[in-house]
Amino acid sequence: GEKPLIVSFGEMLIDFVPTESGVSLAEAPGFLKAPGGAPANVAIAVSRLGGRSAFVGKLGDDEFGHMLAGILRKNGVADQGINFDTGARTALAFVTLRADGDREFMFYRNPSADMLLRPDELNLELIRSAKVFHYGSISLIVEPCRSAHLKAMEVAKEAGALLSYDPNLREPLWPSKEEAKTQIMSIWDKAEIIKVSDVELEFLTGSNKIDDETVMSLWHPNLKLLLVTLGEKGCRYYAKNFRGSVDPFHVNAVDTTGAGDSFVGALLDKIADDQSILEDEERLRKVLRFANACGAITTTKKGAIPALPSDAEVLSFLEG
Ligand code: ADP
Repeated sequence: GEKPLIVSFGEMLIDFVPTESGVSLAEAPGFLKAPGGAPANVAIAVSRLGGRSAFVGKLGDDEFGHMLAGILRKNGVADQGINFDTGARTALAFVTLRADGDREFMFYRNPSADMLLRPDELNLELIRSAKVFHYGSISLIVEPCRSAHLKAMEVAKEAGALLSYDPNLREPLWPSKEEAKTQIMSIWDKAEIIKVSDVELEFLTGSNKIDDETVMSLWHPNLKLLLVTLGEKGCRYYAKNFRGSVDPFHVNAVDTTGAGDSFVGALLDKIADDQSILEDEERLRKVLRFANACGAITTTKKGAIPALPSDAEVLSFLEG
């Protein structure tokens, strides 16, 4: 039969990355276009691995917007959930890793098309056909995309989808830390699967200790799986009846962008096929090993989307 559908909801944008590393944005001699946006990366991660995937979000009716929609289509992501805004432009971000190790961001979002998605524009039929519905947090920042986000979650849930949340905190986008925390926690108890990074764990709990007590302070009764990704240290998992960690793969990382999205895409692809994995620690560990491999492979190439692996690539990595 047909593969189960995974719908990713949220933003897609273009990161402009300096052609030279270790410079400030002002010093950058030029920029390369790197398509991204966490939910879009997840949608492509799923389809590269052979899963069935759709993206729901809004792009500008401009060259960048149509370029991004084309990238989704070319990668096998269904496009019936994409809207184009004729007034506002596609979101753009300028990102650099400066020589001092700090990331510097500048955004074109005043407002960008993704923020203008309205609840009445949602393709409800597509959302209702999702087996897994995945989302981030950025669409919670302002209206009307906040209402669209909440409605899409509700519709997916009512139709029986498994909800998956990656807060994907990008602090500079929020008006304040408090606002970010409040909005993230306002939808916290809706998702059955949540993935946080170590940085987000610290932000949400106020503790820099990654011990079970700190992680479990974020537990809620609807949760089936809480994941903490630890970059080169692998990941930890928390389910109702078991918890543990899965070792990382050692690779020569050149760009970690998209590692988390690659990890999430792999996990969701497997879980959409068989939700009983969530109750079986041995099989879940296998899936997380696969997801760790996806994350690791993604760090070995520049950019997010170009670095997302195919199923065959992951299998040969695991055998090699
Ligand atoms: P995020 O991108 O959300 O911060 P991480 O950086 O923790 O997420 O990456 C997700 C997963 O990708 C990790 O759990 C790990 O398995 C893998 N990964 C990330 N960075 C590396 C690395 N430098 N070496 C090996 N594996 C990595």
